Formats: sequence, C-alpha cells, structure tokens
Amino acid sequence: AEESQITNIFSASGFKGKKLVTTLSSEATISDIIQSIIKTKPSEIDSPFSVLDLRVVIDLMNKWTMNLPTVKPFYAVKCNPNISLLGALASLGANFDCASPVEIESVLSLGVSPDRIIYANPCKSESHIKYAASVGVNVTTFDSVGEVEKIKMWHPNCELVLRIKPEEDSGARFSLGLKFGALRNEVPELLKAADDAGLKVTGVSFHIGSAGASTQAYRGAILLAKTVFETASNLGMPKMKILNIGGGFTPGSKFDEASLNINEAIKSYFENEEDLVVIGEPGTYFAETAFTLATKVIGKRVRDELREYWIDDGIYGTLSTVVYDYFIVTCSTLRFGSKPDEVTYKDTKTYPSTVFGPTCDSTDTVLKEYSLPELEMNDWLVFSNMGAYTSSLGTNFNGFSSSAKNVYIACSSLSYGAENKS
Ligand code: PLP
Repeated sequence: AEESQITNIFSASGFKGKKLVTTLSSEATISDIIQSIIKTKPSEIDSPFSVLDLRVVIDLMNKWTMNLPTVKPFYAVKCNPNISLLGALASLGANFDCASPVEIESVLSLGVSPDRIIYANPCKSESHIKYAASVGVNVTTFDSVGEVEKIKMWHPNCELVLRIKPEEDSGARFSLGLKFGALRNEVPELLKAADDAGLKVTGVSFHIGSAGASTQAYRGAILLAKTVFETASNLGMPKMKILNIGGGFTPGSKFDEASLNINEAIKSYFENEEDLVVIGEPGTYFAETAFTLATKVIGKRVRDELREYWIDDGIYGTLSTVVYDYFIVTCSTLRFGSKPDEVTYKDTKTYPSTVFGPTCDSTDTVLKEYSLPELEMNDWLVFSNMGAYTSSLGTNFNGFSSSAKNVYIACSSLSYGAENKS
C-alpha cells in the first residue's frame, strides 16, 4: 500500500527516478527507519546516506496552506535539489524558484510546466537568459539596468519582477542584501529603464535573509514593496500584480509568527489590490527537517579521557552547516552487533568527544567537546535536520562524496495521493 501511495505522488509529477521506500508504519520514528535500512541489507549499505521523510514534507505543506492560504509556495531549489524532494513538492502543488539552467532542467524533467517556475536570480548570464526563453520560463527577477538590457536582447517577452532590498536588518545569518536588491531611491530609474525597453514589470520581490531572520522584517519589506507598486502606478506603468515575499522561513513556532506578520501586512498594505498574486520562495522551510544523515564511524583514537572519532561525511560534504555557529547539531548513536538487533550501550558513561570528517583538512571537524558514549568502529552517528544547504553545498574535496547520491525515501500509510493539488 505504501509503495503505491508513494508511486501516486511521484507519477503525478512524472517522476521516474530511483526510489527506495521503507515499509514501516506511520508511527515509525526516523531512528526506526534508519535501523531498518541498515539491518535489511547491511552489506549493501553505502555510508554516508540520508533519509528523506516525505511525511515531514507533507505535514509542512499542509501547515503552509493552513497558515498562508493566499501565498503560493515556489520552493527554492538551491536549498536542496534532491530530485525526490522536488517530485514530492511538485505533486503536492508547489511551484519552483530556480536560479540556474541546471535547476530549471531538473524541475522540467519532472513534467512540471515552465509557468510554475520563477527564474529568481537577479543577475543571469546571457546564455542562461537564452536558455530560459527556449524552454518557456517567462518570469524573472532583476535589480540593475544591465539586466534589463540583457533581457531586452535575449528574452523580450519575459515578465520582470523587481527585487528590492529590505531596509530593516532582520538579524539573519545569511543577509542577502549586500549582493541583491534595489535601494528605495533606485526604484524609479529601474522601473523606467524596463518600461523604456518595452518590458513588462509585473511585480516586486524581496528576501529578508536566511536563518534566524526576525519575522517582523516581513512587515517592513511588504510595506516597501507597496511603495514600489505605487511608484510604478505614478509613472503610468501597467498595474503590477505579483508580490514575492521570498524565503527566510523556518518550521516551528517561528513560522506561525512569520505567518501572522505576513497576513496582517498584506491585509494592511495591499487591501485594495484586486488580482494580487502573492508568492513565497521557501527553501529551508521544506528541506531542513525532512532529511536525516547517517554516517559511519571509520576511525577512533583515545587520548586519556578524550575520545576522537572519524566519520565518513564532514564539512566538505553534507555537514557544511555545522561550521555556522547558529546551527545546532543534534546527533544520536546507533550500534549493530553481530546479531541484527541494535546493541544497547551497557555502559552509559559518556566522554568528551571530537568527531572529524574524512578529509585531510583539520578544519574538517564536525563536533568538539561533544558528550558521546564510547563508540567503536562501524557504529553510526545520526544527524537530524540535515536538509537545508547541506548536500547542495557539498564538494568532492579529496575524492570523498557526501550523502547526496545515497538518499532513501521514507513514507508511511498516510493518504498522500489525495493531497495532490497539481
Ligand atoms: N529565494 C532566493 C532568491 C534566495 O536567494 C534564497 C536563498 O538564498 C531563497 C529564496 C531561499 O531562502 P530560505 O532557505 O531562507 O527559505
């Protein structure tokens, strides 16, 4: 039954990729799922691997629809381009924010129509603009006169969305304003340049910043977007319709807070805008909690009380986010004995431990002074919340690959098929 439900979700989006589905009940924890994967075919398991829990993705989509019913999600592919995640989101009715031809190709390969894609990169090379024109991706962002000139030349039928820079500091770890977004005083010139070039500016976008951004920041940015709508109207340009509120969402209570701010701000500032289309570009929101990483202990050293371990993924692979001090790594341990059952640790004593990644760089250190039980070779370390900007930032440094190529999909007997809105 599970297999067929998951097939529904994927076939709805034309997904034909490899899928490995565990057959556990809907109550199975991610730890149960990982144990079952390892125990089923221990000799065939390539470490490291990740598990994509589709139950999480479905819950997040339901929550999005409940909290932000008027905001269409365009999943930011850059956050995690795993094809199964894209397929699941497509069949749940999501649209896509792509920033490059490779990302566009991935989404189109699922059978998603190009009108469900926004090319949300304000600076694109000419060949990439030509590519977008050739596949019918007809909405893109811009924030410079140079971009207007390129689009006029290579894709004159493309609709433009003006990316603006929010004025309040949201406190985000990744503030995108240093690189992107028109300033308030640059807006009239940019709108005129597009209009003079015969291009249609249909909306405004912003991004308050990723990871830890204050949700209050949506309010100020939505108000600023409103002033851009008014400027366009004062310049006698055609009415704008798209308000793109970008990303910056994280699951949990912060999402409720963000939703309140957004809904109130839209109501206050855009009440009289009939035909308004509000879109968002969530990346972290959908990807972060949906992936769990399992890595194997491949080396050990004892120095007095200190324990040092090597695992087979690290900061040059899936675990790059651990170098940012905002990211709280949570890790649990699994051990399998000669019998197929998990061995419970007899000794509950813990030791201050260091966990290194596999490469020859000593900065490739995943955990320091972390309290762990005594581990042995071939034990497993399991890291949760490993979906956002993890495998997408991984490198092949030293020839080590990350978990990105080895993703298992977990689902349950929830009725996914019925939720297909595409
Ligand atoms: N949209 C744009 C234009 C971005 O640059 C990013 C992230 O860099 C996102 C959306 C996704 O942001 P987040 O992961 O905070 O949702």
